[in-house]
Amino acid sequence: MSRIRAAFWDPTGSQYGIPTYPRKMAPPHLLTLRQLTAEGLRPGGQGVQAQVLWRSRRHGAAGVRAAYLYDVRLALPKRTPTARQRAALGKANAARRTCPECLRDVGYVLPRHLGTCLDCAEEVAAA
Ligand SMILES: [Zn+2]
Repeated sequence: MSRIRAAFWDPTGSQYGIPTYPRKMAPPHLLTLRQLTAEGLRPGGQGVQAQVLWRSRRHGAAGVRAAYLYDVRLALPKRTPTARQRAALGKANAARRTCPECLRDVGYVLPRHLGTCLDCAEEVAAA
């Protein structure tokens, strides 16, 4: 094992506070958020369980980068919105696209600073 790998090898967390592994050395039950999502899972209330640390020379300067890991055994299935929730979201979004002046659903969210659709705002500006 190289010197740098050894530096990030701390499965008990005695050095870094939480279990820490070099890249590609984490146990298979510990996944990043992205990996959990790919499995159709979410952390489910658990905090970060462990981390992977590695040196990066991106942006020119040498720095230590971290990826946070969650325990797949504590993860829960991803929540999918119910039909009612989807309907409510659709309604809320439609309201944000509907101009109070011309009462049309203009197909984009109304700019907050105008409060109307762009056509109505232009008419006001021209008048
Ligand atoms: Zn309008």
